[in-house]
Amino acid sequence: MDLQLSEEQQMIVGMVRRFVREEIVPLELNLDPDTDQLPPADRERLIVKTKAMGLYGLDIPPEYGGPEIDLVTRTLLAIEMAQHRAGLYSPCYGVFGGAGLAQLFEATDDQKERYLYPTLRGEKRGFFGLTEPSGGSDPARAIQTRAVADGDDWVINGGKIFISGADKADFGLVFARTASEKGRNGVTCFIVDTDTPGFHVRRIVHTLRSANYATELQFDDMRVPATNILGQVNRGFAIANDRLSRQRIPYAAGCIGVAVKAHELALEYVPQRETFGAPLSSRQAIQWMLVDNEIDIQTSTWLVLDAAHKAQRGDSFRKEAAMAKLVGSEAGGRVVDRCMQMFGGYGVTKDFPFERWYREMRIRRIGEGPSEVQRHIIARDILGASLR
Ligand SMILES: Cc1cc2nc3c(=O)[nH]c(=O)nc-3n(C[C@H](O)[C@H](O)[C@H](O)COP(=O)(O)OP(=O)(O)OC[C@H]3O[C@@H](n4cnc5c(N)ncnc54)[C@H](O)[C@@H]3O)c2cc1C
Repeated sequence: MDLQLSEEQQMIVGMVRRFVREEIVPLELNLDPDTDQLPPADRERLIVKTKAMGLYGLDIPPEYGGPEIDLVTRTLLAIEMAQHRAGLYSPCYGVFGGAGLAQLFEATDDQKERYLYPTLRGEKRGFFGLTEPSGGSDPARAIQTRAVADGDDWVINGGKIFISGADKADFGLVFARTASEKGRNGVTCFIVDTDTPGFHVRRIVHTLRSANYATELQFDDMRVPATNILGQVNRGFAIANDRLSRQRIPYAAGCIGVAVKAHELALEYVPQRETFGAPLSSRQAIQWMLVDNEIDIQTSTWLVLDAAHKAQRGDSFRKEAAMAKLVGSEAGGRVVDRCMQMFGGYGVTKDFPFERWYREMRIRRIGEGPSEVQRHIIARDILGASLR
């Protein structure tokens, strides 16, 4: 794998790095340390800048008006965009725009008119509703929400848990069982408007995340027209699975970005801070923490770029994405923990970003498939047919 960045990649990465350092980090000095929102005037001002940079709507395919950015460059940018306090769950506070739910690019023309284009224009927001109280690690078997055909509609009963942002969404993707079989072949994906009778946000679920709450959903005889089925009946799980694999690459990149920034802050701090008459940087215990940070960051960066390269070439990348997610989230957690330690008492105050990163990074070993599930995916890949 060639890790040398092209001139164009260096230029774009440099531009985004400067943007984060000059535009986002200074604003955070005056923001609530737990917010995921910019004041509206700053948000509008920065969106004008990202549009002028030609980088607005990074995840939108060029044929829908997004910039022509390949996946490897996009991954490098995800590493850069996470390098500030809110960066893990709110990279650059969304001023680079978003594509919303990527699955909608595969929707019918009518569905695109009703959901995709309004999302791209920033008029609608969607949620991704897969996990249920019966289990999220193995959703294909765990899904109990049921949809039954009734005339031109489907009637959905059941519930979901840990669904991010459904309390503020206009619609969402809801995965429901539509056949008697237990596995992945009996699941269908429905696009559901949140004002549909029978749709209830039962509870806001507070987690270690600073903002951007998860929700618990309940569906009571919720009627959804058949025209709102995304893809084919009983083939919805493939839609979820494809998204989960792809999403692991930027998810890992975000963890690496935070680790890079935490390590950089520690490298600035330890030569200045003296204990027992000498700078912390002269102590081998501190040097080894920095060395381990360096190794964690390098190894996870290689893995995530390898996954991005394979995905970009159209090769199978399921194992590589799982490895990147596993190592990126675990290494990122270790780096933040070591940096917090080097900063001593200051490390656990809200004057520094470590405590937010420390809390939010812990979720990353569970969200988008826990570490054990990533190992399970890798084991299935390397053992292949020999694994029963
Ligand atoms: C903040 C937050 C936001 C989320 N947002 C969303 C969202 O927007 N949409 C959505 O659909 N879901 C979302 N999730 C759900 C998330 O994907 C699940 O929590 C995750 O997949 C794990 O499912 P579970 O919590 O049911 O754990 P379980 O499936 O019950 O697993 C529990 C633990 O068992 C272990 N384990 C599981 N399988 C194995 C195995 N094969 N071998 C060994 N050990 C194993 C793991 O340690 C795992 O953490 C979110 C979760 C959180 C915390």
